[in-house]
Amino acid sequence: MDGYPASFDEEACGMASASPGTSAPAARYVDGKSRQVTADTEQLLDFTRDGLAVFDCRRTIQWVNRSFCRITGWRRDEVIGRDAGLLVDPGDAVALWNTVNTAGQFSGEILGRDRHGHSFPAALTVRALVDGSGTVGRYGAVLHDLSRRKQADETIRTLTCLDDLTRLPNRHLFGDRLTQAIGAAERSRRLVVLAMVGLDGLKAVNETFGHRTGDTLLRQASERLIACLRGHDTVARLRGDVFCCLLTDFASAQDARLVLTRLCESFAAPFAVTGNELYLSASVGVSVYPLDGANPDELLRKAETAVSRARRQADTPIRFYTPEMHAEAVARLQMDGALRKAAARGELEVHYQPKVVTATGRIVGAEALLRWTHPEMGAISPARFIPIAEETGLILQIGDWVLESVCAQLNRWRAEGRPVVQVAVNLSAHQLRQPDLVERIDAVIAAHGLPPELLELELTESAVMANAEQAVTTLSALHARGVRLTVDDFGTGYSSLSYLKRFPLDTLKIDRSFIQDIDANPASADIVTAIIAMAHALDLTVVAEGVETKAQHDVLHRLECDQIQGYYHSKPIPAAAFAALMDARGVRR
Ligand code: C2E
Ligand code: MG
Ligand code: MG
Repeated sequence: MDGYPASFDEEACGMASASPGTSAPAARYVDGKSRQVTADTEQLLDFTRDGLAVFDCRRTIQWVNRSFCRITGWRRDEVIGRDAGLLVDPGDAVALWNTVNTAGQFSGEILGRDRHGHSFPAALTVRALVDGSGTVGRYGAVLHDLSRRKQADETIRTLTCLDDLTRLPNRHLFGDRLTQAIGAAERSRRLVVLAMVGLDGLKAVNETFGHRTGDTLLRQASERLIACLRGHDTVARLRGDVFCCLLTDFASAQDARLVLTRLCESFAAPFAVTGNELYLSASVGVSVYPLDGANPDELLRKAETAVSRARRQADTPIRFYTPEMHAEAVARLQMDGALRKAAARGELEVHYQPKVVTATGRIVGAEALLRWTHPEMGAISPARFIPIAEETGLILQIGDWVLESVCAQLNRWRAEGRPVVQVAVNLSAHQLRQPDLVERIDAVIAAHGLPPELLELELTESAVMANAEQAVTTLSALHARGVRLTVDDFGTGYSSLSYLKRFPLDTLKIDRSFIQDIDANPASADIVTAIIAMAHALDLTVVAEGVETKAQHDVLHRLECDQIQGYYHSKPIPAAAFAALMDARGVRR
């Protein structure tokens, strides 16, 4: 209350302030000049947004300004003469006056009380006012209403803790809830189950129908998740297509299975979004407090490890964390790190496996298969490292490297005057999704001056189907240039020949699993017979892969399978050995 007019007349103020809103108080002053100054000051005090009050030495309210009335709801005539204690929450009052009495001033956040007894947050300063003789005669108070600021803070807090899209808690808020749940579980000796849910299929929807549809789908998916949980469980969206459920109060981790199974099953029905029926599936990775970790970070990390396993091996959609998963994750990371350096260190090599006409034994092509020899780990099978490269996206660089190596090799053979056959390169689903795939292939072919007909691309059914719409466009453009296209591992994916008809394919490669026992198992022979008949009806060349024996060869010959590939003729071999094999077999230009 610095600057409070010293000549202020308490009695007169009480009377003058009786009607709220009057701006010119009728105070009595010693002379006319100081009276004017005081009247001006008091008007000024009514302008301020802060509430101002004066209490006498018995803490009786003597004067208040207009903002004080606005903040507290009291009228001046009601509040003047009453005890100042009614303005402050009783919980704060004692400490406040103790501080004023000992230090001469209190300044801090308190809970104020309005006319109706409702609390509101406020910043309050109360200072003892000393008169001319040095005695404390009155107290001045400045009251700053914090309700709006607190509300704004709360809104900001809510906004920053909720996911924009689904309005579910975000990672930050989820972390808080998890910490609380762990605290409660520690006291109750019950279990907390953390279930990380990865939704598979969103990427394809975003790519095919656009992000708006993907967003709507996510909102619907979050509603399904909520519907599966119990009232006191929490579900949060951690990122993109990953959600996390916090399930509390279990005696055994297995008790959570029921909820989790219900959750996975709830994704069986399609989602209706903008006239489309869309499907998502849920993979769930579970970690349990206190069995798998003692703090939120550890539990989240382990649930993350478990969900990546569940996503990779979709046969079991719910995976509980096991220590062995951690070891595997570490090994995968190490392998990813080593693979990133492999090409530059010359550890990669392309081997070639001949494709042979069944009836004549003539080599008509080859499949390029990648080989990685690590200086310490030795030869690592593509069946191990390709899936990791697919997961990390490294497959794009590796795929480029293979394509470049094959084209360079074909060019060398041509420059050496050797006969060249068509070489098939495996293309992963990731590569097929590259928007500039056609340009990339154009560029590599042009750089080596190769006729596009020498290049063949092998794609699995699932890779083609996962990007069906985009695949039709990309594959048509490649086919129009003369690049040959093969569907690999046929029979293991969707196996819908009629669907495959939409794609401009040249060759169909029957999966090894049907060839393995074709000479011993009539069922396999029947399936292969049917595939060959349908493929021929669609004008496709049929290749059988993984042919190891003469018996298998003979059955395939009888079934009129056009070409065979497998150990029976040759394992995949280095480029030089393949050239020698072609020489030996008399393949000439
Ligand atoms: P794939 O494309 O189906 O290749 C055929 C696999 O069968 C090869 O395994 C080949 O070595 C093997 N194989 C060939 N004949 C026989 C046989 O008579 N008996 C048996 N048991 N196996 C036979 P590989 O080289 O281990 O490759 C495994 C998979 O890794 C490939 O399956 C392919 O999907 C992937 N892959 C290999 N190289 C590349 C590559 O450069 N790019 C991409 N994206 N994937 C590749
Ligand atoms: Mg292949
Ligand atoms: Mg294959």
